Amino acid sequence: MTLNEAIKTMTDEIASMIFACQRKVFTNWANDGVDKVKDGRLLAAVDRNTGMKRSLYGCWTYKGAVSMNCYINLNRIEFTITDACSGRCKHCSNGERTSNGESINADAAVSAIKQLTDRFKIKSVMTFGGEPLLFAKTINKIHATARDCGIPKRQLITNGFFSKDEIKIDEAAKALCVSGVNDVLLSVDVFHQEFIPIEPVMYFAEMLLKHKAPSLRVQPAWVVREYL
Ligand code: SF4
Repeated sequence: MTLNEAIKTMTDEIASMIFACQRKVFTNWANDGVDKVKDGRLLAAVDRNTGMKRSLYGCWTYKGAVSMNCYINLNRIEFTITDACSGRCKHCSNGERTSNGESINADAAVSAIKQLTDRFKIKSVMTFGGEPLLFAKTINKIHATARDCGIPKRQLITNGFFSKDEIKIDEAAKALCVSGVNDVLLSVDVFHQEFIPIEPVMYFAEMLLKHKAPSLRVQPAWVVREYL
């Protein structure tokens, strides 16, 4: 029995019990399924026939190689680091909002990454905001943890404007590269630059290249106009 067949067998049995519950009188043909669940025969059969092992939290490991949850197949984690932003873009809800200047709790984020990578095969983690680099230490902690937990793709979306001080910009770029961010997406376009000076953003990009950021991409916003 394959993994998919085993899960289908389980869901068929459970579905039949749900249908039976919707009748006025619980039907006899679903009693067999109830007995199988009660005495553990159903789960034992799935374990035996597929080589899957049940563990805590309702997760399954299949042949010791793939970790999965029966109900959710999570492969990406995204963190909105903060609502605070150095921009005020007209197309963005954050731009209209008065920032509270707070960020998410870095330790809680680190704990979440560790727990999730224990249970799911996470392929990527993304950090964005607001402007996430207003809280660079939080970002660095998150990406260092993601790297240590084996998450291959570690992304940051930033408008690149968090300081005008060249020394601080250089240090921030270096810390990002050391922490393991491997894909930086820079929001640069006419909408962002209405409020954000381009010079410190350009300098930040140069520093990322100096510190050998594995990937730096420009991510402009576009206006799509529909002609009738
Ligand atoms: S920089 Fe980004 S988050 Fe900030 S206002 Fe502009 S679009 Fe929104």
